[in-house]
Amino acid sequence: QHAELAQQLAATLRADVGALVEPFVKIADVRKTFRGRQVLNGVSMDINAGEVVVILGPSGSGKTTLLRTINHLEQIDAGEILVNGKLVGYRRTSRGVVPVRSAAAARRDARIGFVFQHFNLFDHMTVLQNIMEAPVRVYGRDARDARREARALLDWAGLSGFENHYPHQLSGGQQQRVAIVRALACHPRLMLFDEPTSALDPELVGQVLSLIRELAELGMTMIVVTHEMGFARACADRVIYMEGGVVVEEGAPDEIFSNPRDQRTRRFLQIIH
Ligand code: ADP
Repeated sequence: QHAELAQQLAATLRADVGALVEPFVKIADVRKTFRGRQVLNGVSMDINAGEVVVILGPSGSGKTTLLRTINHLEQIDAGEILVNGKLVGYRRTSRGVVPVRSAAAARRDARIGFVFQHFNLFDHMTVLQNIMEAPVRVYGRDARDARREARALLDWAGLSGFENHYPHQLSGGQQQRVAIVRALACHPRLMLFDEPTSALDPELVGQVLSLIRELAELGMTMIVVTHEMGFARACADRVIYMEGGVVVEEGAPDEIFSNPRDQRTRRFLQIIH
């Protein structure tokens, strides 16, 4: 039954993707300053559809900020971010690239799912309400359809029976799985994960990682910031090492873990292992 649900999910996600432009995500020389402090110093990367990219790096290297700029939760100072060939949250004018007025509309149209370190569920809503909120209110989907799909997604995530629970009645692992389901209910074309397991008790990490791994196997394009090296080795098509607001090096997990070229990557891996 689980395999059937997974197939259903894959079909739903595929059907809604539309024409693909490659690279699916294009990040070109992105710069971002907070109060005079340069946090992204010219970050570039291309990500293809279906690719799973893990971003590693020490605390403060700009990983979260980069994820947030992709979803236009932060404005960038310079550079460009294209998702499926389109600017997210910006438009081209004769004066160059300028932010659009409605960041919310830009985010809606880009269909990027975001999973936060601290789950960020709506505390006053049940699990089902959390999942149905955006599909119904933001995307105007029929409530009955949205409910049916939410139930199927919960089933897939091993959470059937929790529909009417509130977030505080769930474990961290369950909350994070609800957060993943909530993102999937919007039929994202790209999923961004910001340290999705670092707020969890160790025994709950596996259940969240295995769900993310399953999404990878279904062909979802994903950018995952994590310190889970086992996950990176098993699931990443590519590992990108960032430090000081730049990409230091990137490569297949094997290359990066077994044979890092840059001194900074080597030092980081020694500390974290
Ligand atoms: P990482 O995810 O790699 O730990 P972050 O992107 O969270 O790095 O942060 C990079 C730097 O930017 C940090 O020094 C952080 O304090 C700073 N920073 C992040 N967000 C803000 C903000 N909203 N205002 C001011 N400084 C910020």
